[in-house]
Amino acid sequence: SIQDTYTLSNGIKIPVMGLGVYKNVDETELETAVSSALEFGYRHIDTAKVYKNEKGVGRAIKNSRVPREEIFVTTKVWNNDQGYENTLKAFDRSLKELDMDYIDLYLIHWPMPGTYVDTWKALEKLYKDGKVRAIGVSNFNPHHLQDIFNECEIKPMLNQVEYHPHLAQPELKAFCKEHDILLEAWSPLKRGRMFDEPVLVKLSEKYGKTPAQIILRWDVETGVSTIPKSVSADRVRENGDIFDFELTSEEVEAITALDRHERVGKDPDKVT
Ligand code: NAD
Repeated sequence: SIQDTYTLSNGIKIPVMGLGVYKNVDETELETAVSSALEFGYRHIDTAKVYKNEKGVGRAIKNSRVPREEIFVTTKVWNNDQGYENTLKAFDRSLKELDMDYIDLYLIHWPMPGTYVDTWKALEKLYKDGKVRAIGVSNFNPHHLQDIFNECEIKPMLNQVEYHPHLAQPELKAFCKEHDILLEAWSPLKRGRMFDEPVLVKLSEKYGKTPAQIILRWDVETGVSTIPKSVSADRVRENGDIFDFELTSEEVEAITALDRHERVGKDPDKVT
């Protein structure tokens, strides 16, 4: 079901399917997206300081009347808040904006050269202090993760990266698997730019599902958690409605073979 979970390396469960709220700054839109998601059964919301909507997310969760502890909430430390002390402060601000006592998952949004190791040490402190149930990173390549392994105590529990059939990330995926780091897909739908792929169209006809649903099902079957974004209640429901069919292993492979190393977002090795 939509409440299926993966278990992170520290034993914390994270729902496979979440709702992304990037660029949802309009209060009504945000409220619609979050409330229709929670009503449909989503229990995982992905926000970030830089999305400027933590306050609205917190409010929408409260208004939903689903108990806080049943919802998995992720937020992220933005690039200009990195470094040890700044990250601790940024975390407190996010907590205040969300109006919550704890966060389920706190991520380093991008590997900022020179500061991400110190930022990670701050996340370790927040974790040890019990302010966050799990800690992880976003947009980290193996060499960034290796720096963390070399200099820190705790391994990230999750890495949220751009992932869709045109960017299937085989090396990064194998590396994360080896280190027990869950991969999570951002822009899982390539922002709507690959629905006409013949492989997807054919499978969509076979299963009576949309290409978006085929892609999201592929995420789940490749062991990745996924956070598609939509502001329309219908699409939020459509994206969550992928737990009543299964792709065959050949079909999963055919989708994976669409990989062409094509990004819609920034290259993590080019952030400054
Ligand atoms: P996405 O691939 O989820 O695409 C979203 C867009 O696809 C929507 O705006 C809509 O136009 C379209 N869409 C959604 N559902 C559809 C459907 N069923 N049918 C047809 N079209 C549909 O892209 P995204 O918003 O970039 O990524 C999802 C989430 O990932 C974000 O909201 C955010 O939470 C997260 N994210 C994280 C990072 C990062 O650096 N960590 C970067 C980008 C996004």
